[in-house]
Amino acid sequence: MINTNFLNESISDIEQKGLKRSLKNVSGPQGARILVDDREVLNFCSNNYLGLADDERLKRAAVEAIEKEGVGSGASRLVCGNMSSHRKLEETLAEFKGAEACLFFSTGYMANVGIISSLFGAGDLILSDKFNHASIIDGILLSKAQYRRYSHLDMEALEGQLEKISRDDPSGCLYKKKVIVTDSVFSMDGDIAPLDKIVELAQKYQAMVMVDEAHALGVLGQGGKGAVEHFGLEGKIDIQMGTLSKAAGVFGAYVCGAKVLIEFLINRARSFIYTTSLPPMVCAAAMRGIEIIRDEPERREQLWENVRYFKNGLNVLGFNTMNSQTPIIPVLIKDSSLAMEFSKRLLASGVFVQAIRPPTVAQNTARLRVTVMATHQKTDMDFVLEKFELIGKELCLI
Ligand SMILES: *Cc1c(COP(=O)(O)O)cnc(C)c1O
Repeated sequence: MINTNFLNESISDIEQKGLKRSLKNVSGPQGARILVDDREVLNFCSNNYLGLADDERLKRAAVEAIEKEGVGSGASRLVCGNMSSHRKLEETLAEFKGAEACLFFSTGYMANVGIISSLFGAGDLILSDKFNHASIIDGILLSKAQYRRYSHLDMEALEGQLEKISRDDPSGCLYKKKVIVTDSVFSMDGDIAPLDKIVELAQKYQAMVMVDEAHALGVLGQGGKGAVEHFGLEGKIDIQMGTLSKAAGVFGAYVCGAKVLIEFLINRARSFIYTTSLPPMVCAAAMRGIEIIRDEPERREQLWENVRYFKNGLNVLGFNTMNSQTPIIPVLIKDSSLAMEFSKRLLASGVFVQAIRPPTVAQNTARLRVTVMATHQKTDMDFVLEKFELIGKELCLI
């Protein structure tokens, strides 16, 4: 046995900084109410925005797929795991997004890592919003491309970088390819990237654009297609990635784009090639989720009504919800241990909200990350606001 002292030391170091993470035990389905340690509490921390994770129709789709195709897929897509549920899901998604083609990955994490590391490499330049998701950053690091971060949502900073590059390299030969990559909705801040401006800059400086729609699919846009639809930019984004694990209620991720892009990824993206394809039931349920996003706009309308109501309630109480524009509503606390204490007291009063601390967010910006769902009732939201007021006053925050 090896000496594990280094592990104990790391853990006590994390603990001393007040940053130790631990798992909460949930049982039963993911609903507006959830069982934490066998006690029912209101769930205000899930990305299951439309309440589809335990929808009867999705469950039935999964069961039917099990009956038809079994539970395992046996191999990777390129070996013998390219089953009819995988193909049907990709066709449905491509059509829904109005894209030429679509490829399904096992997770959003794997999609970002595989897409970025296969498309970009030495000699390329990646410009990335400072708050982009960890999976984008890991994809960039794996790619060996040059990497520059720009300040969060700061279009002047981005243009400044692009301008400097074109000044230093008037012939445009320094980099083989340039790409701007961004989350469309930022997962810990709930704000939206100015995609219209990003596309404008990309066109001006001949860069590609890659967008991660993980929190936007099913939430933004008239048809629920995401921020690309919200900004009316269909056909202008080179690489559209998104996940089916959030609003779509299930699991997995996709990339939509030109047919040749998809062919390239099938041949080069290692996180697609070297992994067993997902169980067909996952794809069948996710496809049903996409159909419901497409066919039931009333769910999205209810979600936005709840978002407006709840965010306004927090603001009236005097909480700082930062620049939130979506169902992700951060409540800025700043101090990590205070944020932890707030979350602990909320749970004790029957409300499940997680505190988010560094290194997930910047120093001194610890926050409670509240997420609103379409299936929250007004009485649920009023109950939670009441607890926020009570605990906020106890902790001298409002
Ligand atoms: C959740 C998330 C991912 C990862 O998706 P998974 O399917 O959970 O692996 C990628 N990007 C963003 C912006 C996310 O919020």
